[in-house]
Amino acid sequence: MRILVISDIHANLTALEAVLADAGPVDETWCLGDMIGYGPDPNEVLERMRSLPNLFCILGNHDVAVLGQMDDAVFNTEARRSLTWQKKSVSPENFAYLKSLSQAALVREKVTLAHGSPRDPVWEYILNTLVARLNFDAFKTPYCFVGHSHIQCIFHLDDMRDHVSLEILLPGEVLKMTPRAILNPGSVGQPRDRDPRSSYAIYDPLASTWESRRVEYDVSAVQKRIQAAGLPEKHAARLSEGW
Ligand code: ZN
Repeated sequence: MRILVISDIHANLTALEAVLADAGPVDETWCLGDMIGYGPDPNEVLERMRSLPNLFCILGNHDVAVLGQMDDAVFNTEARRSLTWQKKSVSPENFAYLKSLSQAALVREKVTLAHGSPRDPVWEYILNTLVARLNFDAFKTPYCFVGHSHIQCIFHLDDMRDHVSLEILLPGEVLKMTPRAILNPGSVGQPRDRDPRSSYAIYDPLASTWESRRVEYDVSAVQKRIQAAGLPEKHAARLSEGW
């Protein structure tokens, strides 16, 4: 069984199409939020996502902001500029779709799905082992999948020693999963680990494996659309370098 795990597409249709093509046939797609924000293609991304069969999706902080359910002042100036543009651009159908999704963490079989963290699903970043350790008490399943930090990694809890380790995952590496762990597939549309390639993961619940993957996409085409839409130059520049 192959489950495509994606997060933080950030209105980048070119990156999303590259990931869907590279992943090949999958049984289900799990999306950990932030389909929009930053990028030039909010409607196209939402429509493409809605067309996927067996999709399970939760909201991220940018999605919640576009729904008007969060004060934009919490975002930096450039992110806010992009959000204002996205709010005006999103069609009524796509708005209704976003509104139907959950801000809370979801449980799918052995996995809890959250955008930021199980303790604070919309906002908290799990960037270090201390925050990860606190979050292991906030979910009951063997595994938790999160996005939000845009970094492909795994936090593993060694129950006997009450110790959490952090491992940055290498593309193409197939990891045999052992409980308990918090795993991040990285970001489809705006990677932040200095590798501009799109990140995602393939999860096989029967074999208990997780494969971190990367795929190149046409960054300059997306940068041109960002510029044409009058969105912040910074959001175009960062895509070339992956930050
Ligand atoms: Zn994000």
